[in-house]
Amino acid sequence: MRVGVPKEIKTNEHRVGLTPTAVREYVAAGHQVAVETGAGLGAGYTDEDFTRAGATISPDAATVFAEAEMIVKVKEPQPSEWVRLRKDQILFTYLHLAPDPEQTKGLMASGCAAVAYETVTDAKGGLPLLAPMSEVAGRIAVFSAAETLLKHNGGMGLLFCGVPGVAPARVLVLGGGVVGLNAARMAAGLGAEVVVMERSIPRMAYIDEVTGGRVITRYSSIGAIDEEVVKADVVIGAVLVPGAEAPKLVKREHLKRMKPGSVLVDVAIDQGGCFETSRATTHEDPTYTVDGVVHYCVANMPGAAPRTSSEALNNATLPFGLALAKDGLEALRKNPHLARGLNVLNGQITYPAVAEAMGLDW
Ligand code: NAD
Repeated sequence: MRVGVPKEIKTNEHRVGLTPTAVREYVAAGHQVAVETGAGLGAGYTDEDFTRAGATISPDAATVFAEAEMIVKVKEPQPSEWVRLRKDQILFTYLHLAPDPEQTKGLMASGCAAVAYETVTDAKGGLPLLAPMSEVAGRIAVFSAAETLLKHNGGMGLLFCGVPGVAPARVLVLGGGVVGLNAARMAAGLGAEVVVMERSIPRMAYIDEVTGGRVITRYSSIGAIDEEVVKADVVIGAVLVPGAEAPKLVKREHLKRMKPGSVLVDVAIDQGGCFETSRATTHEDPTYTVDGVVHYCVANMPGAAPRTSSEALNNATLPFGLALAKDGLEALRKNPHLARGLNVLNGQITYPAVAEAMGLDW
């Protein structure tokens, strides 16, 4: 199959759909890969890295879209890309269509087969193509919290890891899923005192087991949150209720009882945030302060590490992308988990939550 990798054009997006390592796998499987010139630069890959891996370099996006049977990207296509997609072409990327009717209509009008990373499933009921970005975000959350705690960044001037004779930060992680566990392990690894609050009892048992009891788990009740929030120097919000806005677990009145200069990191901001006072921020201007508490609510945390994020994403997408390249849409019939990724086909919505969001009967 002819596979095309355009340069990402969404603001501040530096990841790339295929890394040179992934290109080599496609080429070894007999496919042709065309990469737009400069597509990998933001993640540190030159055109030469791609040609060494067996790709050809295309001069512009128009050529990539015109020649490819499958387009592999990272972010949802932008309006200038919708019009380049066409019938009988597969699009494989993050889409997040439910809150984006304009993009949904654009993809329907193109006639392409749009396979979304975020709705591909695995045998355990997980979302294997979302998990790598949650891993990155959970780990970045801890670095960001540690930085923000420093005085010149508005924090209370506490060294996250402490020093001999001086206590480290106390970190409260709300939600012990992929983001939460990665944040908890990273924080514990840096020497912090860590509490994770969860609703799932099996998940708490798992966290207890894999951290060897190094991380304290507590059931996430209103009363327990009340107690823990005021003791914490850092609170990391990592809850997810699938298909719903994040519950507001930390209220404005909590802030007045927290230590001045303590830090809230709301990783769940992309689902509306789990602190009442959260609003989305950017890497350029990541923090703001409410009632003396510093908020860090960057909606695209993995964007800070495009190199690691591109590689982690490619590790997860590669087997699915190779299956699509080998068998085309027949790959969906062979793998029901990949089939769950199909969101739009022949101008029709094929994913229930997207159809409902568009007000269509399913
Ligand atoms: P996940 O499904 O793996 O984990 C969510 C956890 O929250 C689950 O274990 C669930 O039991 C728990 N939970 C639900 N309600 C709770 C409550 N009331 N109290 C405590 N725990 C509760 O999800 P994830 O992959 O870890 O993602 C978490 C959030 O981070 C999502 O909103 C996701 O979109 C977001 N995220 C943001 C970024 C970013 O850059 N800001 C990047 C990746 C993921």
